[in-house]
Amino acid sequence: MFIKIPFLCFLLLAVVSSLSVTDAKAHNAPERKQLRKLSHFNKEGVYFSNLANGTRLNKVTKLSREHYEITISSEFIPTNSSSFFAFQLWADEKKTIKISLKYTEYKHRYIPKLSEDGLIWRPIKGLILSESDTTATFDITLSSKKLWLSAQEIESSEHTYEWLDKFISNKSYIRKHSVGKTVLKQDLFVVSSEQESVKPSVVLIARQHPPEIPGGVIAFKAFFEEVMGVSNLAQNFRKEFNIYAFPLLNPDGADNGNWRHNSNGKDLNRDWEAFTQPETLAVKNFVIEKVKQENKSIWFGIDFHTSYNGPYLLILNEENEQMAKTRIIPRLINNINDQTPIFNQYRRRDQDLPYCYNWFYKAFGSEAITYEEGDETDRSIIKARARLYAKSLMQQMLLELKLK
Ligand SMILES: [Zn+2]
Repeated sequence: MFIKIPFLCFLLLAVVSSLSVTDAKAHNAPERKQLRKLSHFNKEGVYFSNLANGTRLNKVTKLSREHYEITISSEFIPTNSSSFFAFQLWADEKKTIKISLKYTEYKHRYIPKLSEDGLIWRPIKGLILSESDTTATFDITLSSKKLWLSAQEIESSEHTYEWLDKFISNKSYIRKHSVGKTVLKQDLFVVSSEQESVKPSVVLIARQHPPEIPGGVIAFKAFFEEVMGVSNLAQNFRKEFNIYAFPLLNPDGADNGNWRHNSNGKDLNRDWEAFTQPETLAVKNFVIEKVKQENKSIWFGIDFHTSYNGPYLLILNEENEQMAKTRIIPRLINNINDQTPIFNQYRRRDQDLPYCYNWFYKAFGSEAITYEEGDETDRSIIKARARLYAKSLMQQMLLELKLK
């Protein structure tokens, strides 16, 4: 007990302090809805832009000739501290300036990353946080070449679909089609490999939460490429199982640089009981149709995310694990632990919450996991881990089929 009391006090303090910050600022809210524009300081020859999709910058203020304050707000509050920012910046001539990222609510979270081409990113050095962690200050050297500065790698819907279309272009066994529209009337795509005679199926869901690039984009892509790839294992797997993948469930949020929500200000991963949003409803209708009309059987669901204290997998609680119609997760865990030096952690969580992975269990008796990566985990490890999980899951699902 003596461990729990200080921890409770800490929790209480954290809640009280976060409430007071939010309340105080809520009455004096800045423009949370970001205006898309080029902010230029002609005398100094310094430029900032949030015109590209996937960016987030609410306001630029010149504090001095060499110091610029970037105001960052979440489109909707309350939210969690997924304090996402992204923009481009450059100067007429080479110069070093000071940048302060100032968050109107919540705290700094992600290490700022720089890129010249949007592909290769490097973390900035020498970050100084204010006492309350609401402002992050650092130096940056500009030139006439535009730089990206972002909380995580920039990934708009266009980036995801460009990768997807390229990957599937020479694979006739993969089909991509729209199953509905988002709040802003963007297409919601499902990408599938299926055969009429095959009934067992797996469903993959990615990026309900826009800033969660490590799990929602990097891990998902590597996992998808493995299960949809040309290895013998993947080919054998697809003879026995259908795959239905939703590569980007929140394109509106991704394009608008949202911290958490869809364009209605709803957290999609809390909507898997009420289904009030078009994005979650489209998945539900599609999967239920597959089960009812085509007699498909959902064996496994995976929902890709990223957490401050990841990587880990959220798995079913012990009771539900026993009740599920298959026994894949325990063997998957043993198999991964046996064959890899890569750190793996598993957590069980309350199965009454309206999370996506709980819906798979409740609606179909399926095993399901929430796949969480870490904010700053080495990207090559994220890819290696995802490939390993994909291979191991395919092996264990094929084994389950044999044992049944
Ligand atoms: Zn998430």
